[in-house]
Amino acid sequence: MKRHLQILICASLCCSGVSTSAPASQGLLEKPPNVKVINLLHNAAGSTDTTSREIVRNEKGVFDLPGVGIRVRADFDGARASAVTRVGEKSIEVFIDSENKPINWSPWYSFTIEQAGPQRPDRLSIRLTYPPRENSDRSPHRYRPKLSSDGGATWKEIENSEYNHEEGVFKVNLDTLPLAVSAQELMTSKDSLEWIETLSEKNFISYEVIGKSIGGRPLHMVHIVEGTEDGKEELFILSRQHPPEVTGYLAMRHFVEYLASEKPDAKAFRKKLNIRVAPMVNPDGVDDGHWRHNYGGIDLNRDWLEADGQIEAKFNQPETRQVSKAFLRFKERKVAFALDFHSTYRDVFYHDAAIGTNEYNLILNWIYRIGAKLPNSKLDIQGSAKSYSTTAKSWMRRQFGCPAVTYEVDDKTNRQELESIAVEAAKSLIMELLERN
Ligand SMILES: [Zn+2]
Repeated sequence: MKRHLQILICASLCCSGVSTSAPASQGLLEKPPNVKVINLLHNAAGSTDTTSREIVRNEKGVFDLPGVGIRVRADFDGARASAVTRVGEKSIEVFIDSENKPINWSPWYSFTIEQAGPQRPDRLSIRLTYPPRENSDRSPHRYRPKLSSDGGATWKEIENSEYNHEEGVFKVNLDTLPLAVSAQELMTSKDSLEWIETLSEKNFISYEVIGKSIGGRPLHMVHIVEGTEDGKEELFILSRQHPPEVTGYLAMRHFVEYLASEKPDAKAFRKKLNIRVAPMVNPDGVDDGHWRHNYGGIDLNRDWLEADGQIEAKFNQPETRQVSKAFLRFKERKVAFALDFHSTYRDVFYHDAAIGTNEYNLILNWIYRIGAKLPNSKLDIQGSAKSYSTTAKSWMRRQFGCPAVTYEVDDKTNRQELESIAVEAAKSLIMELLERN
């Protein structure tokens, strides 16, 4: 989401929230001060080769540390720790490598610490180190550690006093072992299936396997269809193309849970729209603790380009091929909206709509409503009328002629705020789509 060459053309004009070009039958609401609107003009889409590349498979090691009295385990789904070394009696270094390079700098890590001898320190200092970064002299640490002492049932962010973000160094108490340390809450393909199964206990929700990842893991689609399926519009949702993007995944769950709830507006919404959700598009990457890619070594969100595109057709990866096909089954119906959930360094909504169109106004009004309800949340809307981007949202827009948005959640957004935004996002979208009808 961050690599495009962009020219800022009208930030000040567009920040006023005034539409300037094509006539719109649907006017813009007033822009709340906490929402920033940025419009960018893109050059022609660059071509990213998505032919499979080699990766180094995660060995999921177990590291004994004689002389420290502990063992570091990275042998579970979602784990990543490439090498662990003893620095002193109370100090270790954990090296975290990526699945291949070049790669987006999202250095994911996850491991547990357990007792491995009669003596262990009360406190342990951990330094995280990373390989050299492409085109940079720094390999910065990114994710603030989350800790769990109950097997991953609950997670707590590390305290400020124990954490040096610049150095990637932190201290943990070893009074309750095993202790899990993770870049974000651990949410694997198993967690996704459990969530899907729980949702599907409702009689209007079902799910199916729509394909398999390169590693043979099932790809799922959830169908939220209340009453008759025909004669309704469609809402498409996908998530977790990028493994470390847990905040986006959490927002997706809250968003979908609201739409599936017994709230009157959600029920009214389901009378008019069917909802299709592909909650975990890259299960191999998630379960192997990848930084970005699938087992094909590819950023899946650069692989969405149909055969009649202006640059070479993509869909080189089985995950994108099968998920796109599953959505295409509903091409005969009207698709009202599509949403792809991600995470980055801020809360931002990306779209391709041209300024002043109904589509543009619908997207902005949707987010203005969220911003007005949550005045303390800073939300950015970033548009680029770029016709042949290779991301899922651009493909959705081209294929189905619907407004499509990449919903990016800040890696650091407080989890309660994240939920509030996601719930307001669901309510506001219901309002926009039902009012429009
Ligand atoms: Zn992403």
